[in-house]
Amino acid sequence: MPDSARWAISTGRRATYSRPEVKIDIARVTAAIRSEEYFATSSEQRFRAVERRQLRLGARAGMLVVLLVALFGGVTLSLIHQPSAPLVIVLNGGLASLAGAGYWLLGRRARHYPEAVIFGVTVAVILACVLLGLGAPELAILTSGYLLLLPPVVSQVVMWRSWTHTLWLLVFFLALLTFVALAPVNNLAPIEKLDVLVLGLISVSASFSGHVLGFRARVRSFRQLRTIQTLHRSLEQQRRELARALADLERTSRVDPLTRVANRLRLDEDFEEVRARMNRTGGSCGLLEADLDRFKAINDQLGHLAGDAVLRAVAQALQHSLRAGDHVYRYGGEEFVAIITGADAAATEATAERLRAAVEALAIAHPDNPAGSVVTVSVGGTLIGPADIDETDGALFDRADRAMYAAKTSGRNRIAMDLPRWFSSSSPDGRVAPDGTAPARTGWAANMGG
Ligand code: GH3
Ligand code: MG
Ligand code: MG
Repeated sequence: MPDSARWAISTGRRATYSRPEVKIDIARVTAAIRSEEYFATSSEQRFRAVERRQLRLGARAGMLVVLLVALFGGVTLSLIHQPSAPLVIVLNGGLASLAGAGYWLLGRRARHYPEAVIFGVTVAVILACVLLGLGAPELAILTSGYLLLLPPVVSQVVMWRSWTHTLWLLVFFLALLTFVALAPVNNLAPIEKLDVLVLGLISVSASFSGHVLGFRARVRSFRQLRTIQTLHRSLEQQRRELARALADLERTSRVDPLTRVANRLRLDEDFEEVRARMNRTGGSCGLLEADLDRFKAINDQLGHLAGDAVLRAVAQALQHSLRAGDHVYRYGGEEFVAIITGADAAATEATAERLRAAVEALAIAHPDNPAGSVVTVSVGGTLIGPADIDETDGALFDRADRAMYAAKTSGRNRIAMDLPRWFSSSSPDGRVAPDGTAPARTGWAANMGG
């Protein structure tokens, strides 16, 4: 019992009841309709395709609901209102068959026209209600209830286009008007007819607002989904670009920007790898150090830019004198290192000589080189092998460095070798004895180049 009524009884005053009010937020509905995205998105092909698919799925479920309601309504009403049973059975049976046919059609030919099928079936429901109310006047009130229930239910269940919904509401209201106009006054008094019409208007407005707000919610979620997809795509693209940039960075961070040959970082990594492989599988490698002769004089007399150009030319000449797979590394200002993988003493020495000769062959004029009138390098070489496992990298580079200084002190534009203790000169083909036990040739092995 409402509070106001209880209070009225206890105080003996007349109770006042107010009708429940259906509030429609007109401002929200008009704003929703006027919004640009409502129309722009609703006319997009993709949105319509998504809507059609959802509508088709919903429509088949809706058909089953209509079928079940028609069967249930047919049985219960014909039991309660036995005089009207034949009409009730005919109308509900017809509706059930129509809904069944609609369900079947939506799975086949009519699958591309779900709106038309739903429109047909729901209008048939309206007409069946009107015919029931007119054919069995004692059911007029019940029919009014049924009719008034239809618009809100359709707006919540059927997700079709706004124009279709508007047209459907128009058909509904005309049917309601016809029913109200033709219903016998004995069964539906004029004041009740007026009530039904007022409620009909409220039902139509509620249905329309429900449709607009529901449609707008779907438009919005479609747009949000699309935004997420776009963001996802651009994120994916950025990720790819970042990976590419990172790979570029990885590569360039290991290249000397002036000479375009590998730099010290790459040397450290490669040297570690070469040593590890050699220690695993045996064999030996050559390690060469090349230093430009009297390079300072070029800078001093021709300028730093000329000096840079010489460095670039020399670095490229050194790199091109190596086998594919071997690298020249810029070790310091005008010092370069090369690792000659898998080389024995003879091959290392031969490569050192090839490097020296390649620079000389560039024939770049040198203003003050005691070793000649062109730019030259002095190259020091050593051999490294598994027997050097306990030596530090620094100690091995020192060996090549010592050989390079020997080449310098013996006149420049030369090569010199500093072979390790474990190197066995008894090996006829110059191959390395990996045990490192036999003390062999040590010290300098220098020779004039050219
Ligand atoms: P040596 O035959 O004994 O090696 O004499 P050198 O003049 O080559 O040796 P020194 O160590 O006296 O001079 C090396 C010069 O290399 C000094 C330095 O200015 C120059 N240098 C180092 N890095 C660069 C560079 O990137 N560009 C230029 N233009 N010069 C450089
Ligand atoms: Mg030098
Ligand atoms: Mg130097």
